[in-house]
Amino acid sequence: MELATEPDVYSPNIDDNGNYVDRIPSFHSNALANGIRCPCGTRKDKVYISAPLFAAHCKTKTHEKWVQDLNTNKSNFFTENQKLRDIVHAQKIMIGKLELELSSKNMTINYLTQELTKIMTVGGGTLLHTQPTATATATANDLLMF
Ligand SMILES: [Zn+2]
Repeated sequence: MELATEPDVYSPNIDDNGNYVDRIPSFHSNALANGIRCPCGTRKDKVYISAPLFAAHCKTKTHEKWVQDLNTNKSNFFTENQKLRDIVHAQKIMIGKLELELSSKNMTINYLTQELTKIMTVGGGTLLHTQPTATATATANDLLMF
């Protein structure tokens, strides 16, 4: 699978005081077999493949400022998280409704396809490739009206 070859995305730890702090992950685990990418924005597409390289990155100004900003915006993250949870909840409901609607429409389409096939195969069981007869048209219209 494609996901397995993607590098993991780094996220800092939270210390006893609830602050974000860097913790260099172990690069010996399988989880980091494809390296790690840092979302701080210093080097967007850079993939770190060893602990010393990533530790050096964590000491860069941009990365340190990023961690500092995470700590400054902690309460905003909570609010943002709540908003996103609400959105996910609303979208789950929306998806459920759409799935029901889709299922119902699929059933209608299957039914109408069967009925249409019956109408089109009048006489000898072969499909008519000409214009539908007046009777067939009327029946198809009746079906669409239900
Ligand atoms: Zn970084």
